[in-house]
Formats: sequence, structure tokens, C-alpha cells
Amino acid sequence: MKKLTLKAPAKVNYRLDVLRRRPDGYHDLRMIMQRIDLCDVIEICLSDKPGIRVVCGRNGVPDGPGNIAWRAADALLALSADKPGIDIAITKRIPVAAGLGGGSSDAATVLMGVNELLGLDLPESRLREIGVALGADVPFFIFGRTALAEGIGEELTAIDQVPAAWIVVVNPNVPVSTAWVYQNLQLTGEAARVTIPRFFENVADVCAILSNDLESVTIPRYPVIGEIKRELLVAGALGSLMSGSGPTVFALFDDEGAAVRTAEAMRARGWFAEAVRTI
Ligand code: ATP
Repeated sequence: MKKLTLKAPAKVNYRLDVLRRRPDGYHDLRMIMQRIDLCDVIEICLSDKPGIRVVCGRNGVPDGPGNIAWRAADALLALSADKPGIDIAITKRIPVAAGLGGGSSDAATVLMGVNELLGLDLPESRLREIGVALGADVPFFIFGRTALAEGIGEELTAIDQVPAAWIVVVNPNVPVSTAWVYQNLQLTGEAARVTIPRFFENVADVCAILSNDLESVTIPRYPVIGEIKRELLVAGALGSLMSGSGPTVFALFDDEGAAVRTAEAMRARGWFAEAVRTI
């Protein structure tokens, strides 16, 4: 039977401005989103046995219909005349509920993979529409390039000029709920008054715009996030920020050796830490 093995990368937010609260409960955002080479691996197989099966085997991530990858496969199977079975095996490498978009990336990868395996030939625009119903970050991973993301994250503009960088991600493994972060956010509207560039010549240009409105909620509650940011800067990072709603912190380096040594030092402190490339 037909089978695909695909990588589902994580993302970091170089910028996350919360512009306003919307009547539907979502927030209008302005984000600069960058994919990084820290990936889950997803194996998708068509089978003769009807139904969708998702196996992940990672604490805190449901198997079966509770998994966002299951819902992605279900959404495409509903559009297919053939109804083969779909078996999905997820090897999680991206920390869970970490602000790195792991679940959204898994869903985007399944949408693209199942589209191909079922021969549906849906265009990227249609996959992005289906994706946003699963999660606000899903369209970004289908888009597949560094992007300015507006609306709830689904209005995407490519950022073509952006430097490659080494990114160190550090996850302190404290439980941060995205809903709690947004509920406790005091909107100032300040970030919206700042214009952000669309061209970045070098890593220093990226570091000049690093900002995340959600840090004002998470850092007072979990000071370890601020401590990690400071330690990364002391270690020689050119800039450091919390990603998404946290708690993962990332830092930019333009030197591989410094990034790898810093990740090792952070692991020695007992945190999850990896040095990876932007992609
Ligand atoms: P974001 O950055 O988009 O807010 P996140 O990185 O903070 O996402 P995820 O790792 O996507 O968070 O997980 C959020 C929740 O979704 C978890 O509590 C988890 O149980 C559930 N979940 C469902 N499917 C998956 C999946 N395939 N991978 C990870 N989490 C999943």
C-alpha cells in the first residue's frame, strides 16, 4: 500500500504582537514566523482496513481522534471518493505544549501528505482553508516559508529576505496553557504602533525586532523563562525571546560552535535544549 514518511518542523516567533481582541474570542495578531529544523517524523500509510488510526505514544499527546493529525486526515478523507484506511505514526521530537507549534505542524504535514496519497490534488489555498479550521498556525506550516502572519495567523505574506541562523531552543518544561496566557493578557496596543520591516539582511536585523507581547503574562508567573533568556544572552546569543505562548525560549546565533556549546550547557542544567538551523 502507498506510504509516505515526512518531517514536520517546529516554528519560532521572531515577533508576536497582539493587536486586538475580536468579538469571536480570538485575537488579531501580527507575527513573524520562522521554521526550524527540529522536526517530528510522520509516517502515513494507506491501508485496506477502513478507518483512521493515529499512534503517537508520547505522554500528553492523545492517540486516535483526540490527536490533531487524526482530525486533519478525517477532513481530507471526507473530500475523497475512495475511502481507504489511513494509518499515521508520529514520532514526537518537538516538545509538547511548548509554543513551538508541534501539533499544528503535524496537522499541516498530514494534510499535505494525505492530499498526495489520495491523489486529491487540492491546491495550497484550499489546504490552508481546511487547516485554519484545525488550528491557527496550521496554514503557516502549509505555506512553508518564513512569513508575516496576520489575522489569527492565517493571512500570510512571504518574507523573502531573511538570514539563515543557528537557533538554540530551551524548554523549561513548566505547564503553560495558551488559553490562560490570553485570558491574562493586558492589551496595551503599543506594539501595533510600531512598524516592522519586511527585509532582514542579517541576524542583527532580526534581533532588532524580537518582541513577544505574551512574555508580559508568562515571565512574571514563571521567572525561569526570564532567567533562561538572560543565560542565553550571557552565553553569546545575539538575541533571545520566548516563542508563542511559551514556555520555550529561543536564541539566535550566527556561529554553529557557540550554538552547539550553549545547547549542551543548557541540557546540563536539566532542560530540553537543541541547537538547530532555520529552514
Ligand atoms: P502552539 O505553538 O500552536 O500554541 P504548542 O506548541 O504550544 O502549540 P502543541 O505541542 O501543538 O502546543 O500541543 C498542544 C496540545 O495539543 C497538547 O496539549 C496535546 O495534548 C494536543 N495535541 C493533539 N495532537 C497533538 C500532536 N500531534 N502533537 C502535539 N500535541 C498534540
